Parts: sequence; structure tokens; C-alpha cells
Amino acid sequence: MHHHHNNALVVLSIIIAIFASYTALDLVSSLKSSRGRAKWIWLLGGSLAMGVGIWSMHFIGMLAFRIHGVDIYYDVPLLLLSVLVAIIASSLALNIISHRAPSIGTYVTGSLVMGAAIVGMHYIGIASMRMAAQIHWDHFYVVLSIIIAIASSFAALLMAFKLRDDLTLSGFLYRGGAGILMGVAISGMHYTAMAAMSFTVDSSIAVSDQQLLATDGLAAAIIIGTLIILGIALSGSNIDRALSRKSLINDILKEGIEARDQFLSVASHELKTPLTAMKLQTELALRQLNNNEFDKDYIVSLLNRTNENFNRINRLVDDMLDISRITSGKLVLNKTKVNLGDIVLDAIERFKPLYTRAGAPDVKFQKIDIVGQFDVFRIEQVMNNILSNALKYGSGKEVEVTLQLLRNKALISVKDQGIGIAKEFQSKIFERFERAISASEVSGLGLGLFIVKEIVLTHGGKIWVESELGRGSVFKVEFPLE
Ligand code: ADP
Repeated sequence: MHHHHNNALVVLSIIIAIFASYTALDLVSSLKSSRGRAKWIWLLGGSLAMGVGIWSMHFIGMLAFRIHGVDIYYDVPLLLLSVLVAIIASSLALNIISHRAPSIGTYVTGSLVMGAAIVGMHYIGIASMRMAAQIHWDHFYVVLSIIIAIASSFAALLMAFKLRDDLTLSGFLYRGGAGILMGVAISGMHYTAMAAMSFTVDSSIAVSDQQLLATDGLAAAIIIGTLIILGIALSGSNIDRALSRKSLINDILKEGIEARDQFLSVASHELKTPLTAMKLQTELALRQLNNNEFDKDYIVSLLNRTNENFNRINRLVDDMLDISRITSGKLVLNKTKVNLGDIVLDAIERFKPLYTRAGAPDVKFQKIDIVGQFDVFRIEQVMNNILSNALKYGSGKEVEVTLQLLRNKALISVKDQGIGIAKEFQSKIFERFERAISASEVSGLGLGLFIVKEIVLTHGGKIWVESELGRGSVFKVEFPLE
């Protein structure tokens, strides 16, 4: 018996399937970024929009179907049941995708259940058809339609999970492409299932006109209704995303302000300590000088300590200036041809008195000559920072410096036997303000190694630390030799 499809409605049904798939993929990213109650609202709204979208594709596909000379009606309760099944399948799919990291087993069960639900929705829809004709089934196409439903559910879940975080333009294009693919798969399932049917007229079947008659008007109403629902869902999802992006920016700003406040409080504490000491030392020296029989040695030692405090403040201010130079990209090297061995040796010699005063043994170093292009002042700064850390965190034990020539590289290692650094901090300490120890234990701003790293990187080199907590650390700096 002659039957055919209304081409315009077929095209519209495919467009609706693509639009619904795209909306579903878009909703997934909103679902993912929301928490608590908002998540439930998205899950509910998303399942509703996606379920109605998929169902509407199927139903329009069925309204596109015509048998010559036979009116087709639909049983409303069964039709509503098929909508319900589509919504449940969608909520299931969304639920799976919103998981943090679904396993392959979850995808398989998910696509089996989702595929079964789509098949259920379709065949319940067919079962709701009322007409004076008998349906004959071609089992090959029925099985094929079931396979397509399950396979496309699997692909859809996989794609939706992959794409859910990507909010860039390429993410949008991917989502568009995936939407088209999914839309075509859903339509493919529907029209394969429709191809499974053939009909013979049977006027003995009574059809009551209480039921819904398939007309173009009904198709138009369903298309418009679906577009409205999908449009609401899509704009809701975009508004939600814009709002959460705004709150993310607020969070970042707040973090920046907190970091600034923390820096101000630590920096002022770092400046206050040497200033207080200097005030005390000058007062003591003045009191001595006002006394006719003053102790010269005592005054000299007071002034020496004042001088050290001056140096400490100077270093702090230099560090802050360097930080602002680095962040504004103005750290410029002034390279000359020099002997790296000399720079390292000079730095160690300058540090020796500090070590002996702290009761630590001499710094061990065997000088070798390595000539290359370096910024002397900046390399001295690198050495000073690492050596002063070895003193600060070295528990008064021996420090050993080695300089090696490796093929076309120079390697400086500074080894101490101090408190060491836990694994999780070993790369962090090279970041700005990052410390592996609290300010109440050992004072510091956490800027030194950041500046050191920037100087080393600007020289084209690299820096890292090998360390064990409680055992000591080895800081290694590698410079390329041109
Ligand atoms: P500061 O010493 O002012 O805190 P740095 O940037 O020089 O800043 O060092 C960052 C952190 O790295 C220190 O706070 C400390 O926790 C850790 N650190 C640096 N050198 C050593 C070392 N030789 N032994 C143990 N910990 C170290």
C-alpha cells in the first residue's frame, strides 16, 4: 500500500534534532559549572528541554508520514507516555555527563539505558498510532534502529563529556559539529525504524475521532512549541554562564586584593624588625658617647650591627624594585665576557664572615674557570640569594658549592645539610611570595628565589632543587654557554 513522507516536515524534524542536540550539549556545560540547588534546576530544566526536543523530532517525523487515503490519529495518553520516556532518558544522560570522571563502564550502561529509552519512546509513539490499516514489521530494520540508538547514545555521551568544559570559539564550533552529528544520528534512528514498517488497509479497525488527528497544523504547533522551549533553555544557559564568569572574575580580584594586603603586612613587618633594632643600637651608642668613659669596641660592634640592618633593608627594597621590574618586563641583562668561577668565588668570599659569625664551618668550593657571557651583577645576586638561604635554612652545618663544565653548559650546585624542603613545595618556592616555612619560624618575604629564577631564565638557563625534608637541599643552576 502506498505511503510516503512529507519532505518539508522531514527536513524540519532533522533541524529540530540538531537544535535539540546542540542545546543539550550547551546545557551540559552550565550543569557542570553549577553546584547545589542550581545543579538540580539545571538537571530538571535540561532534561525537560532535551527530552521534549528529541521527542518532538520523532513526533514531527511521524507527522511527516502519510498513508494515501488513510487518516492517522494518535492516542494522547500513549503519546504523553512517550514524551515522559524521552525526558527520563535525557535526565539519565545529563546525570552521567555531570559526573566528575565517568568510567567506560558508566558510558556503556549509560548508552544502553539511554538507547533503550529512545527506542522505547519511538515504539510507544508508533503504538499510539490509530488508523484503519495494519502494520507489518521488517525485523532487520527494527534491530538496526535499536543498534543505531545505542551507538549514537554512546557517541553522544562521550562527546558531551569531552566538550563540557570548552567555552572558547573552537569549543562552540565543536559543540555545533557534535550537535549536527547527534541530530543526524537521532533522525537516522527514527527513519530507520520507520522503514521497518509497511501497511495494509484494514477498514475493520475502528478509529474514534476523539483522538488526535495528524495534520500539518499539529506539526506546526509542535515545531513552534519545541523551538520556544529550546530557545528558553539555550538563553538561560548562556545567561547563567555569563553570570558565573562574572563571579569568577570577582573571585580573582578578591584574591588579588587579599594577596596585596598580606604582602603589605609581611613587608612592613620585615622592614620594622631591622628598623627597631637600628633605633635601639643608635640609642645605645649615643648613651655611651655621652658618657665620658665610653667603650670604643662596644660602640664599633653596635655600629657594625646597625650597618648589617641597613644592608638588610637595602636588600628588601632592592627585591621589591626587582619584582616590579620583572612584572613589568623591564629586567634587562647587561652581559659581558666574564669568568663564572671568579663570580662564584667572590660571592662565597663575601659570605664567609657571615657563616663564621653564625658558627657554621667554612663554605667548601674548588674554583674552576668557565668563561661565558653573563651579567655579573645579576649572577652575584643569584649566588647571594642561594648562599644566604643556605645560611638561613642550613642549620649551621657545612655548605658545599661546586662548579662544573658540562659539554656546553655550566652547572652551579649549592648543597646544604639543613631543614630541607618537602616534595610538594619544591617547585612552588620559585613562585612569588611562596614559602615552605611560616614567617613566625624564619622571617622572609618569599621573593628571593622568584627573582633568582627570573634572572636565570633571562640568561636562558634553568634552576631546580633536589631536597629531602630534614636532610638538606641542593640548589642547581644551569647556564648555557654560547
Ligand atoms: P625567603 O627566604 O625570603 O622566604 P626565598 O624565595 O629565598 O624567600 O625562598 C622561598 C622559600 O624556599 C623559603 O621561605 C624556604 O621555605 C625555602 N627555602 C629556600 N632555600 C632553602 C634551603 N636552602 N633549605 C630549605 N628551604 C629553603
